[in-house]
Amino acid sequence: MAAGAPLKRYLLTAGPTPVPERVSLAMAQPMIFHRSEAFAAVFKEALEGLQWVFRTTQPVICISGSGTAGMEAAVTNFHSPGDKVICLRGGRFGERWAELCQAYGLTVVPVDVEWGRPMDVAALKAVLEQTPDARSVFATASESSTGVAHPIREIAALCSGRDTLCIVDAISALGAFDVPQDEWGIDVLVGSSQKALMLPPGLAFVGVSQKGWARARTAKLPRFYLDLARMLKSQEKNESTWTPAVSLIVGLRESIRMMREEGLEAIFARHRQLAEATRRACMGLGCELFATDAPSPAVTSVRVPGGLDGSKLVQRLRGRWGITISGGQEKLKGKIFRVAHMGYFGPFDIITAVSGLEMVLAELGHTFELGAGVQAAQRVLGSVE
Ligand SMILES: *Cc1c(COP(=O)(O)O)cnc(C)c1O
Repeated sequence: MAAGAPLKRYLLTAGPTPVPERVSLAMAQPMIFHRSEAFAAVFKEALEGLQWVFRTTQPVICISGSGTAGMEAAVTNFHSPGDKVICLRGGRFGERWAELCQAYGLTVVPVDVEWGRPMDVAALKAVLEQTPDARSVFATASESSTGVAHPIREIAALCSGRDTLCIVDAISALGAFDVPQDEWGIDVLVGSSQKALMLPPGLAFVGVSQKGWARARTAKLPRFYLDLARMLKSQEKNESTWTPAVSLIVGLRESIRMMREEGLEAIFARHRQLAEATRRACMGLGCELFATDAPSPAVTSVRVPGGLDGSKLVQRLRGRWGITISGGQEKLKGKIFRVAHMGYFGPFDIITAVSGLEMVLAELGHTFELGAGVQAAQRVLGSVE
């Protein structure tokens, strides 16, 4: 490539994710007043769309803030100082739940699983039985740091029939695979804008069950900006308590329109296929998958082969070819790389990433047959699911 030529960029990280042209154009429209009928109409449609994505008949609260704002609301609105809670930890985001709960003075009972493995439901069951006063169980649907999809349905089932809330970070799951809130009995379900919902960062979403709302009425932790009951009151009038991120909500209405046009089943099938193609491609290159038992349909984590430096791989891919994937975090730094495929993704995003990956791996001295990964991906992507 000629020196100084602009590099075309490709974004395949586990958030933020690519934003469709339609959504960008919707967000570029002139600003509207947030206390107007025009905004109320946009907000109403967006909120109904969120219920459709969450698969709940309960209202979903829309917060202006990153995903962690939704997680923080899930801690402060449903607990009182000193409450005992169980936090499932198997990666960086599971750890974030525990840190958040500790920051608010809750007593955390951790249940750990090795990074890369799905949560052991029997281990959780045992801890729940030993901890009858556990107020909540905090879980992660798609642990983006390890690429694992945890067994949320089973975890939620363990919480039903007792005074324990099931609280789930589904930030990188919603819109990529099914996490039906009502059907599975999830009490608090947290999402955010910059993953499979195809928007820029800046919105968090919290769906709350009736059991959750009942708990909120007695929960004593202080809250103000993130007071969900107060926000619900406004939302019932299609208003926002505070000045909302107006442009993002206009974008949300558009992204949900796109999702409705495609249909949830088709969206989930697309993600399954992209994930399968990515996994096959990496195996075709002689790489080992990191999450072998329960790989997430939203992000694929792969062991860096043969003693190569994973940070260098990620850096080269971006610097030389304009392709941004994620490396490993904390104890996985340099050891894995992660290719996300959540939201506005199609077959050629995967083909592009895999082909770039091949060129960099070859350059770093990994031996394999050039084209083997692309070919493996093509076989999956060319087949009808
Ligand atoms: C991206 C992500 C978050 C995001 O938190 P931010 O506050 O938006 O940075 C939380 N949990 C998971 C599982 C994620 O993938």
